[in-house]
Amino acid sequence: MTRAFFFDRDGTVNRSPGPGYVLRWEDFYFQDGAVELLRWLKSHGWKLVLITSQQGVGKGLMTQATLDDIHARMQDQLSHRGAAFDAIYAAIGLDATEPRRKPSPLMIQEAQAALDIDLAASWSVGDKERDIAMGQAAGVGMNVQLGTDAGADWEVSSLRQLHDHLIRWERLMAA
Ligand SMILES: [Mg+2]
Repeated sequence: MTRAFFFDRDGTVNRSPGPGYVLRWEDFYFQDGAVELLRWLKSHGWKLVLITSQQGVGKGLMTQATLDDIHARMQDQLSHRGAAFDAIYAAIGLDATEPRRKPSPLMIQEAQAALDIDLAASWSVGDKERDIAMGQAAGVGMNVQLGTDAGADWEVSSLRQLHDHLIRWERLMAA
C-alpha cells in the first residue's frame, strides 16, 4: 500500500481557463509552484494522480485525441523535471451520462485499485467544492482546498503555501 496525492487539473495544476475548457496545449499554463510541489511529493514517496473532469470532450468541443495530446505534453514537461503523474483519470461525459464525474468517488476508487493506494493516508487538493466532496466521499484522509470554497478539511491560498506546510508536516511526522 502506498499513499497518493490526488490533484485536480484546471485551476489547481494549471491555471483555470475560466468558464470554458483548455482546448489546446497552447492554452495550458502550469500554476506557480505546481511543478516544484509535484517533484517534491514524488521524491518523498507519494504517488501522483490527476483526477479531472473534461466535459469539453463530451460536448464535442475537443476530441479525446486532443485531450490525450494535452496530457502527453504535460507529462513530457513534468517527466523532464521528475514530477510526472503516475496515473491520469478523466471523466469526459456529460453530467447526466457520466457516473464518474466529480463528486463521484469512482475515479479515485479506480486509482486505488490500480496503484494499491492507502486512501486514509492520502491527500487531495482542488479548487472546487466538488473536488473536496469527491475526496471525502472516497475516504481520502486530507482534502485541501485551494482558494475559499466551503467544506474542506483545510484551505490554502496557493500551491507554494501548501508545499511549505507539507515540508513542515513531513518533518513533524519524521520526528
Ligand atoms: Mg478545478
